[in-house]
Amino acid sequence: MSIIRFVNTDGLPAFLAYLSKDARVLAPVEKPADKKSVVFEEWTQGKPFTLEKATVPAKEAVLPQCETLLTYKRDKDPEDPSRVSLKLDDTPQAVPTVVFACRPCDARGYVTLDRPYLQGPMVDPYYKARREQLTVLTLTCPRGCSTCFCHWVGGGPSSPEGSDVLMTEVEGGIVLQGLTPRGDALLEGSGLEDGAARFPDAEAARKAAWATLNKAPDLKEAPAKVAARFTDVDFWEKETDRCLSCGACTYFCPTCYCFNITDEGDGYQKPGRRLRTWDNCMSPLFTREASGHNPRTAKALRMRNRVSHKFATYPENWGAFSCNGCGRCISNCPVCLDIRAIVLDAVNAE
Ligand code: SF4
Ligand code: SF4
Repeated sequence: MSIIRFVNTDGLPAFLAYLSKDARVLAPVEKPADKKSVVFEEWTQGKPFTLEKATVPAKEAVLPQCETLLTYKRDKDPEDPSRVSLKLDDTPQAVPTVVFACRPCDARGYVTLDRPYLQGPMVDPYYKARREQLTVLTLTCPRGCSTCFCHWVGGGPSSPEGSDVLMTEVEGGIVLQGLTPRGDALLEGSGLEDGAARFPDAEAARKAAWATLNKAPDLKEAPAKVAARFTDVDFWEKETDRCLSCGACTYFCPTCYCFNITDEGDGYQKPGRRLRTWDNCMSPLFTREASGHNPRTAKALRMRNRVSHKFATYPENWGAFSCNGCGRCISNCPVCLDIRAIVLDAVNAE
């Protein structure tokens, strides 16, 4: 039986203060400049936060936009300058982190990232160090929205996958349900009141959220159908016509995980460092090779790669879609390209 707790709305800052005693807490914060963006930022005492769905996923918790993989310093032997010694530090930088009030699609995003970063032939030590110190407190969604389609791809507004604690808003506060030993331990030490009596309210709220969703199409055949379209360049050209190749769809995605690696500094005059930064497969530069040859010069070929990876190749490798239906690529696309329409066109094509 999992641990159930209840927190009054007024008690949330004190709960966040408890969470931040031993960890960095990333909470959704409204950007005052436009009031339209909600981003995850480190919470400190007194900082306003919101329970709105963030415009940007909390992917930074495990995969920062830019991180230093290693630093290096080279020294020439003054007696024999042809001899160079190299000092290198590649210790992963990770601190205990709590993600507070992400949504179920974001929490499932961590599971999607875990497979290639932790379960493949190579384990990424930097990702692993962060992931092992991550606790995820997910707020269930009160309703579906026009761009969300989590229930098409195996999730839902109260999906538990990837979460340590599932939180549901009820009248007067939030019911918190531990889902993992880590989540249970966190709730047990919180000093919050027992929430068992309010759990039926949480269950009712979750059920009501499911009832707001549209009917999901059957995507069982999607991996085979999308793969079957791979050589149909006309199909991809038609679907990609409006695309500007801006890359917003990948940068806002909780499950995109491509990166680039660059070195800065020569290591002699000043220490050098190797950086890993997010990259995006919708950019024409993404696949440009050192020779200048580029196998994906056309935007249709890049869209084919993006959609096929999420709905055909990744499922073939890992048995699940690498799209969690968060809808951010739809809401943030400047020309309103809709990945749902592309997948459905592929599924329904003769
Ligand atoms: S956000 Fe829209 S316009 Fe930009 S690359 Fe993605 S599909 Fe193309
Ligand atoms: S592809 Fe779009 S809808 Fe799917 S997880 Fe990424 S941003 Fe969300």
